[in-house]
Amino acid sequence: MNKYDCIVIGAGPAGLSATLTLGRARRKVAIFDNGTNRNRVTQESHGFLTRDGIKPQEFKNIAMKELEAYPSLSISNETVIEVNKNVHNNLFLVNTSNNKSYITEKILLATGIQEEFPLTQIRQYYGKSLFSCPYCDGWELRDKPLAIIAEKDEHIVHMTKLVFNWSKDLIVFSNGHPLSNKVRNSFESKKIKVYTEVIKSLHGDNGYLESIELESGENILRSGGFIVPSFYRQNKFAEQLNCKVDENGGIITDGAGRTTANGIYIAGETEKAGPSSLMLAAADGYKAAASINLDITLDRF
Ligand SMILES: Cc1cc2nc3c(=O)[nH]c(=O)nc-3n(C[C@H](O)[C@H](O)[C@H](O)COP(=O)(O)OP(=O)(O)OC[C@H]3O[C@@H](n4cnc5c(N)ncnc54)[C@H](O)[C@@H]3O)c2cc1C
Repeated sequence: MNKYDCIVIGAGPAGLSATLTLGRARRKVAIFDNGTNRNRVTQESHGFLTRDGIKPQEFKNIAMKELEAYPSLSISNETVIEVNKNVHNNLFLVNTSNNKSYITEKILLATGIQEEFPLTQIRQYYGKSLFSCPYCDGWELRDKPLAIIAEKDEHIVHMTKLVFNWSKDLIVFSNGHPLSNKVRNSFESKKIKVYTEVIKSLHGDNGYLESIELESGENILRSGGFIVPSFYRQNKFAEQLNCKVDENGGIITDGAGRTTANGIYIAGETEKAGPSSLMLAAADGYKAAASINLDITLDRF
């Protein structure tokens, strides 16, 4: 079996940027991806310098094309299902859902995160008219009648204040969760209405929100909005490989992608199990790749 210097799990901006950097450092790398990047639902990605407004798949295609220039790199559309360490030789065995196995010296976890929504119906609108990141999509929704859908006080306050910068026409929906009078009063002074009733249904066409119906039957017109989902890591590779995790579920690192487990590195949103951006994830990947390359260099020199 061929031995790789590094296997990168996940070809989002974090994994792709790391792979490019490692390829340029003459490392033999295999990168695996199963197409479950959470931004695949959106029409355009914004804020990545030189690529503002690009489609997520086009972004990925350009990055993958760039990897082709480096012969020591390979890309596979496979799902990694298991990573095991051989304690005798410190190498890792990576198994995929195609029943293939690969051996590597280092592992970079760049598998991103996923969202969980308070209402399953939000999925139909997510990425088209409902979003979770105002920096990513606030500009496109500017000055529109928007909904803020969130359930916890601190989430409601944070998202509402933030989005107020892009549109003053806001209505908050807490979906059955009470909101303190203090918060309500501060919103009322800005003419922001609050509905604490449970949401019965979202209405719209082809992912474009038109109204939000409450349990009482009241239907409130809104043409888009921002929601606060819960985020989670969709695998336990880090825990299985004995990486230390903090009280918030974030993987502990040295700030340069090295986890507490020898040979395991991490980059992108999966590190903190929280959202960031294409630019930040790509920067994380670059940083982790430099750590991986340096560690291999020092081991072998
Ligand atoms: C609707 C929406 C709109 C967004 N808009 C913007 C925007 O405009 N601008 C911006 O900067 N950011 C935007 N983002 C956020 C951006 O998508 C993320 O910050 C970024 O993609 C995180 O990069 P990542 O490399 O950490 O993870 P991801 O991009 O999620 O990549 C992780 C990759 O790992 C792969 N993977 C996971 N598990 C496995 C496995 N077991 N085996 C093989 N492969 C695996 C997945 O297929 C995926 O491709 C948006 C997100 C969403 C949901």
